[in-house]
Amino acid sequence: MKNQLTRREFIKKNALTGLVAGLPVSLLANHNAQPAILGGAPAWNKNNWPIWPQWNPETDEKELISVIRSGVWSRAAMVTEFEKQWAAAVGTQRCLAVVNGTNALVTALAQYGIQAGDEVIVPPYTFIATVSAVLSNGALPVFVDVDPETFQIDPAKIEAKITPRTKAIIPVHILGLPADMTPIMAIAKKHNLVVIEDACQAHLAEYQNKKVGSIGNAGCFSFQNSKNLAVGEGGAIVSNDNAFMDRCFSFTNFGNPYGTAVGSVSTGSTMQGTKLRWTEYQAAIGLAQLRRLEAQTTLRNENAAYLKSKIKDIPGIRPYRLYDQVTRAAFHLFPFRYEAQEFKGLSRADFLEALRAEDIPCSSGYAVLNTQPFLADTFKSKIYQNAYSKETLSSYNEHNHCPQNDQLCKEAVWFTQNMLLASRNDMDRIASAIEKVYQNAEQIKKRAKN
Ligand SMILES: *Cc1c(COP(=O)(O)O)cnc(C)c1O
Repeated sequence: MKNQLTRREFIKKNALTGLVAGLPVSLLANHNAQPAILGGAPAWNKNNWPIWPQWNPETDEKELISVIRSGVWSRAAMVTEFEKQWAAAVGTQRCLAVVNGTNALVTALAQYGIQAGDEVIVPPYTFIATVSAVLSNGALPVFVDVDPETFQIDPAKIEAKITPRTKAIIPVHILGLPADMTPIMAIAKKHNLVVIEDACQAHLAEYQNKKVGSIGNAGCFSFQNSKNLAVGEGGAIVSNDNAFMDRCFSFTNFGNPYGTAVGSVSTGSTMQGTKLRWTEYQAAIGLAQLRRLEAQTTLRNENAAYLKSKIKDIPGIRPYRLYDQVTRAAFHLFPFRYEAQEFKGLSRADFLEALRAEDIPCSSGYAVLNTQPFLADTFKSKIYQNAYSKETLSSYNEHNHCPQNDQLCKEAVWFTQNMLLASRNDMDRIASAIEKVYQNAEQIKKRAKN
């Protein structure tokens, strides 16, 4: 309703509020231009977006080559150095590097004793690994709906989902935008729940000037290739809980006591464990990437704020909102909601296609997770059949409806983090392309129908 403005009204309204003066020349000049999908010139030339991951042979290869030539490839000093630097960057006492973010979560849950019979609160708007990690431990993921304005778990809906079986909350700082940690921590304290932050997309994001991952009992990070700190594969657990971190070390090293060097045998395992160690060359790549993370994070924040300011008044474009206590985001993705009715009913798929024709890469983001059939399949296993009542498992879908998330998954549009490393002028090009599609929505819709 609020956004139902014609183009003329839109310009008039914005002219009155002085916004047109602030619009980039490209945006104003372009509003009559033919969209690329209808045969016009694209807003941008193909393949000129910053590549990802970044690598500079001159500055990045020294440690890596020294590792390769040393022949010390299993966990040793380089991994320890990376852990030291990542703990310092996040502001925790400890860090343990592991094979990936998924297993960082699996380990953290296991070492806080989460197991079959327990329930873990998760948001539905997340990467599948958040939920897989809960299932890997035999626990039941309990979905709490999202706040569609922020894309994050809605803290106001958590308490209604807490039962005597609830043991933990996994707030996910999804898209690199921090979840609302103050109410989440208060609820956790009240109900004596462990908080494991899934910060796999939120490197150096901050809430009340504290890095995410350092606020809950533990934080988990991913260094997979697409992530803001990219190593190909990799992950880390951070925490100030020494006993917990010692257990995580043991679990990921065959159960050997904390500090046992690689290659030691007959050390006497302290627990049943597995092996999830990082290699020295992964740490060397990670250290090289860590040197550029701070500046990249600043640039992403600047460009995201600028792009948001340029598109927020286009009817039907609803950019993310950050919670008031967020002091910095990571912007693994730049999200907004797309309201087709404001674009003359042009579907999201057709909107995305038109943007891509302008050489603006974009995607529709996550599909609905909480109703995926793999969940029901998992619950058929002996672990679940033995640990949960028939009633709990058969009414699972009914108790895990997330209507806000269902709608969000239909409306979301994402730009990837590497696009936010481009120039301000390129942010103008994105805005201008969206504006062009808005102007020509009717014709684009007609074309899509034919
Ligand atoms: C990437 C990601 C993970 C898993 O990390 P991997 O390193 O790919 O195993 C978990 N949670 C979220 C939110 C992620 O984005």
